[in-house]
Amino acid sequence: MKKILIDQYGRQLNYLRLSVTDRCNYRCYYCMPEEGMNFVDRKDLLSYEELEQLTRLFVGLGVDKIRITGGEPFVRRGIMDFLSTLSTMKGLEQITVTSNGTLSEDHRGQLKSLGILKINISMDSLDRQRFFEMTRRDRFEEVYQCVMDLLNEGFQVKLNCVVADDKNIQDIVPFIQLTEFYPISVRFLEEMPFNGQDTFNLPRWNYKAILDHIQHHFPQIQKLQDEANGTSVNYKIPGYQGSFGVIPSFSRTFCGTCNRIRLSATGELRTCLYGPPAGNLRDLLRSGAGIEGIEQELIRMVARRAKDGFEAEAMHAKTPTTSMSFLGG
Ligand code: SAM
Repeated sequence: MKKILIDQYGRQLNYLRLSVTDRCNYRCYYCMPEEGMNFVDRKDLLSYEELEQLTRLFVGLGVDKIRITGGEPFVRRGIMDFLSTLSTMKGLEQITVTSNGTLSEDHRGQLKSLGILKINISMDSLDRQRFFEMTRRDRFEEVYQCVMDLLNEGFQVKLNCVVADDKNIQDIVPFIQLTEFYPISVRFLEEMPFNGQDTFNLPRWNYKAILDHIQHHFPQIQKLQDEANGTSVNYKIPGYQGSFGVIPSFSRTFCGTCNRIRLSATGELRTCLYGPPAGNLRDLLRSGAGIEGIEQELIRMVARRAKDGFEAEAMHAKTPTTSMSFLGG
């Protein structure tokens, strides 16, 4: 019988979010402090060879979808060669990438030739000043141009927008207006505590507040069929080319069908974003455990997965605030 990754509640995990670096060229306020980030030493990162070995292991256990993330994946040298290796991996049906828009024309050309056409871009504002305040980088024009180039070149683009009180509420309506003219999917995310800092205030802009705000401005919104195992609750405005969704990333209403597993750039395995690491695959690999030994351990770690993000969070003494750039976004 084929071995698969299945938890104690019968959920199969077939979607790996693989982080290739904890480094980022942005300093989004909800993800990390402006200064003083302690990025890990290069020797502590999984090498590309280790990433490939572990990916093969996951694919052998039924993972057929991978999202490459970070940190910012395109700041790690050699990323395109790694993606090229992944693109030939038997059993891996879909490779997607999440980026802050640090994609050159060269990257785009290569991604296209590898058949990697689904890209998520983080973009929290359509206003240059607000974009700067949220990301602490004055690069709005560059990111917007990257989104337009991706669309023109035939990529399927999703925009991720973290909604935050006093920061970018004014952007919700313009983002939806953007979907009138572009076949783009904008997803509004609730802010999560993973900001690399000690404090976190409960987000006032939860999915209900976001949706009420949208409905107030666009009473004609239409519900769309959601993807199986998706986290986003999707809608569109009739007649508009694109669509939008709300991701209850803090309210955690989607845990019952969650099929995701995360591997950080240092090998930490998380079966839930809110929980502590279930183990470290880099350490197992470097201790000479052998692929079969790691496979058994991995199956065991997945089996013990928490029921939902609240149960997972309760395994910590206090609300976890590790930066998403370290967890693998
Ligand atoms: N650098 C890439 C990017 O910007 O998309 C990939 C990594 S980033 C950590 C992945 C996603 O996590 C982004 O869409 C970002 O907005 C989201 N994110 C990071 N910290 C978050 C937080 N505290 N709450 C909600 N979303 C967060």
